[in-house]
Amino acid sequence: MRRRDLLAGLGAAGLGGCVATPTLNAPVVTPPQIGSALVQPLDAPMAPVQSSMDRVTRTLVGLRPFRKPGPRLEAVCVGGKDVVHNYGHGGGGVSLSWGVAELAADNAKAFGRTEIAVLGAGSIGLSTALELQRAGADVTIYAKDFPPYTTSNIAGAMWHPVTLYERDQVSAETMEMLHLASKIAFLRFIAYANDPRYGVYWIRQYSLSNRPMNTSRPYMGGDALYPGLKRNQPGAPFGFAYHDAYYTLMIDSDLYMRALVNDFLGTGGRMVEQTFDTAADLESLPQNTIVNCMGLGSGAVFEDESIIPARGQLTFLLPQNDIDYGYAGWTREHGQLYMFPRKTGVLLGGSFDKGDWSLEPREDEVHRMVEGHAALAARL
Ligand SMILES: Cc1cc2nc3c(=O)[nH]c(=O)nc-3n(C[C@H](O)[C@H](O)[C@H](O)COP(=O)(O)OP(=O)(O)OC[C@H]3O[C@@H](n4cnc5c(N)ncnc54)[C@H](O)[C@@H]3O)c2cc1C
Repeated sequence: MRRRDLLAGLGAAGLGGCVATPTLNAPVVTPPQIGSALVQPLDAPMAPVQSSMDRVTRTLVGLRPFRKPGPRLEAVCVGGKDVVHNYGHGGGGVSLSWGVAELAADNAKAFGRTEIAVLGAGSIGLSTALELQRAGADVTIYAKDFPPYTTSNIAGAMWHPVTLYERDQVSAETMEMLHLASKIAFLRFIAYANDPRYGVYWIRQYSLSNRPMNTSRPYMGGDALYPGLKRNQPGAPFGFAYHDAYYTLMIDSDLYMRALVNDFLGTGGRMVEQTFDTAADLESLPQNTIVNCMGLGSGAVFEDESIIPARGQLTFLLPQNDIDYGYAGWTREHGQLYMFPRKTGVLLGGSFDKGDWSLEPREDEVHRMVEGHAALAARL
């Protein structure tokens, strides 16, 4: 699905009923201009994470909206309504949010109506709604749950769009869209960095491996989106054989989601609690242009069987001011592990269980993470 195809041929339409797909010029994406990050050099020493059960503050479980062919971004006609789908962003929905929001908003705006409904109030719905407001639209968000009760509130959330699709099911068009969305999103997130209201700040990040890292493909959106990137470096912190290192943005989702809600309401947006069971429920909405950002919930409503949950469990430790870095790696003893340095607490993660709908925290997972990260810290 090429963006120009998505946006092809449409005039303004203020009345009900679906109209043909609109035309817009593709935005010019300039490469990021990044100064020195407000963090230590990538080779600076690291303080160990104090990972022990007596420092655990909370454990959260969330279901990532993982769609095997990758995120869905397209305009369709549902009943008499023009619907733009914007869902299924897997493990990278916060990272991609501003990019897919801009692309989805372009689609919705081109239908020519001022009143627009956005379904869903996660990071995708809120950023899409804000993009539409910026263009002068009168936006109402309809959702079953609002922040802080969304999956987006549980997200890590490190800026790195990954785990977005099954490699053998994603199309070249979707990959093109994801690269473009990543570029747009990263540039937008930089503008929030170090504003305490949004909880977005720079960190240094390490991908760890005992095997040589694959450098045949650029990172999502291009390596320029990962300032300072050094790939497949021999030797690594924690005793790994190889590592990639770069600077990226940490998005403290508790603060960030609250700030987006404030921005939306402060610009005259409305929020309505409503659950949709089937696509026919959309008929009851007064708006004729609708952007669907219901994440995992889109599967049942729009009968999309390609979207499944990818369960993730996070355990938080008491915060440590001396941790300004994150990492991700796989260990023989403890499996996949990652750590993000949130200011509200040290975040321990490492689960991505496809097809698992359980929202119950698992005690054995808590121990795996606490012990696994303690073992890594002992290797520093
Ligand atoms: C443990 C974990 C760690 C993660 N880490 C990262 C990370 O580091 N970086 C990153 O970029 N991403 C990360 N993610 C992924 C990220 O959380 C998701 O991709 C993102 O939250 C998807 O946003 P969304 O707005 O589509 O969905 P959601 O946040 O789930 O919002 C969906 C909205 O739709 C509403 N809705 C759903 N169904 C219905 C219905 N039937 N009727 C009405 N409303 C409905 C919901 O109430 C909600 O308001 C992580 C996720 C998890 C679980």
